[in-house]
Parts: sequence; structure tokens; C-alpha cells
Amino acid sequence: MTDTTREPLIRLEHLSKFFPMDTDVFGRTTSVLKAVDDLTLDIFPGEAFGLVGESGCGKTTVGKMMVDLYRPTAGEIWYEGQDLAKLSKRERRGRCCDIQLIFQDPYASLNPRMTVGEIISEPIRINRLVPREQIADRVGYLLNAVGLSANYRNRFPHEFSGGQRQRVGIARALAMQPKLIVCDEPVSALDVSIQAQVLNLLSDLREEFGLTYLFIAHGLNVVKHISDRVGVMYLGRLVEVAPKRELYRNPLHPYTKALLSAIPVTNPAKRTQRILLEGDVSSPIDPPPGCRFASRCYAKSGCASCACDTAMPELVEVSPGHFVSCHLFDEGKRVLDAMPR
Ligand code: SF4
Repeated sequence: MTDTTREPLIRLEHLSKFFPMDTDVFGRTTSVLKAVDDLTLDIFPGEAFGLVGESGCGKTTVGKMMVDLYRPTAGEIWYEGQDLAKLSKRERRGRCCDIQLIFQDPYASLNPRMTVGEIISEPIRINRLVPREQIADRVGYLLNAVGLSANYRNRFPHEFSGGQRQRVGIARALAMQPKLIVCDEPVSALDVSIQAQVLNLLSDLREEFGLTYLFIAHGLNVVKHISDRVGVMYLGRLVEVAPKRELYRNPLHPYTKALLSAIPVTNPAKRTQRILLEGDVSSPIDPPPGCRFASRCYAKSGCASCACDTAMPELVEVSPGHFVSCHLFDEGKRVLDAMPR
């Protein structure tokens, strides 16, 4: 899924991550869990790309490969002319500042024995990003940037609320002066009342610091306000990618439609029928040869001749910037109008 008219900030090409699950008596791997399987994606400078899917679909694994917490099993990660997946640990360290991660759990991601000032200043000091005498000012500036008082620098993480801790995590990521931040479900552990504040903060910081985001989330309601484009993953593969407005107005993949139907709507006049998925999720250890969604798909009966159970559908562009992976779109068959929206 690439756009040849623009130069991406980062390009993931045929990226895969398989985790060994079992070995034989000789120590050879006999089964693997296919967390991410042949994913291709461009993220452009300044954009916020929302990556959505249910637990275990591989979205967090994609983010962890981008920040080098996981090494890809196959594929390439192109960033500023270099394939990050092929760099040695030492070479990669020189590039690590540019891509940062905001963790899901603000409670577990901060060292409880360090003050907030130490947590934020540590990467600045280790990477010598500013002269030593300017570190304190830099920490105060970052705390202010995320809406916290500079006086909080001597407090420990347990003295903060969940939302404030996530702000500290954001300040720590900003300390490295990154160009791209992988936001791994940054609001899922927070109270609903705090979620909007953190999302607004991330939007403001994107403007102020010229950041690019990969925003990982569980549901389409969270990424709606912050993303420019949205990708939907299912069992290790992208099933639909589109500009945000297009995806919410004209979802094409049956799984995207099911996710959208699950978003609570307060206005009764705008409520649509909830699509309840039946059937079991296929195993990522032994995924089916055909479409990964086939075991739960309510739409495949709409195309009796489609090879849903035998051939993997490709991600194809069906309108400018709108990609979908579904046999219903093969060979010009546009029968999706018959499906619930
Ligand atoms: Fe459903 Fe077939 Fe499309 Fe897969 S390819 S989403 S099984 S219709």
C-alpha cells in the first residue's frame, strides 16, 4: 500500500514478525505465531496515521518493530534512505532519537524510583542532546509543554494521577526531539473523562513540534479525532486503509463495518444496526489459506464464486487512497452495496 506521488517519512515494506511457538528435539522451530504477516504501509511527514484492530491483530507489534523493540522476521523499514531492519544495534542507536514510543500503561512505563525530572532528563543526558547546564531548563520546558508545572520535577510517579503520568510519558518521548512518535494505545488505560484531554494534548503537540504519529488504538472511535488516515488490521494483515473521512463515510471491508457499528452513537436518529460477528477468530499460529476474516465474515455469501476460503485477497486501491483487501472487489465485482453499512 504505497503512494508514489509523495515521499513518505517511513515506509514499511512486506514487514512480517513471526514468534517461534514450538521446537522439535533438535531445537528447530516447528510452529510460529504470525503476529504481522506481509504488511506494507507508508506514513507521510506530519500526518497522524491511525492503526486499529482488536487485541492480538499485530498492531502493537508493528509499532514495536518501528522503534526496534522487535526485529522483523522479514521485510524492510525504510527511514531517511536506510533500512532500519538491517542496521546493527550500534548503527540503530544513532537513529533511535527520531522514532519514539508512548506506552499504553502510564503506571508501568515510568520507573517508580526516579523523580519525574530524572525520568525526562535521562535520555537528554545520555544522548547529549543539550549542554549539561541547560538540561534543567529543558525539563521544565517539556513539563510545561505537556501541561504540567515545572515544579513537579522533584515528584515521583506515584504522586501523579493516570492522566498526569501519561503526560510525563509524552514529555519523556519529546525529550528525544523525535520526528515520529508511535502512540501505543496511549489513552486506553485512562478514565474516559481524561482521554479527550490527552488526545487534545497530542493534537496540539503535533502542531507545535511538527510531529508525525502512528496512533495505535483498539477501536475506531479513539482514532477518529486525531488521525488523517486510518488502517484497519485483522489477524496480522491490513484489511482496509483510507483517508479518515472516506473510511468513516464509506467503509468497504466487512470487518471495518463491524468495528464502525460498535461505536456508541448518542443521537438515536443516527444509530445504525450493530453488526455482531459470529464464528471463531482464526488462529494466528495456523491461519487459514484464504481470507483471514472468512471464519467470521457475514458477507462472503454475497459472492458464491469468491475464493474467500482458498485465496488470500490482495490489498487493492478501489478509489484514490482507499485500499481494501476483500475478494468482493476482485475483477470489478462491486456487490458490497448489498451489505449492511
Ligand atoms: Fe469476507 Fe470473502 Fe471479503 Fe474475506 S474476502 S472479507 S471472507 S467477503
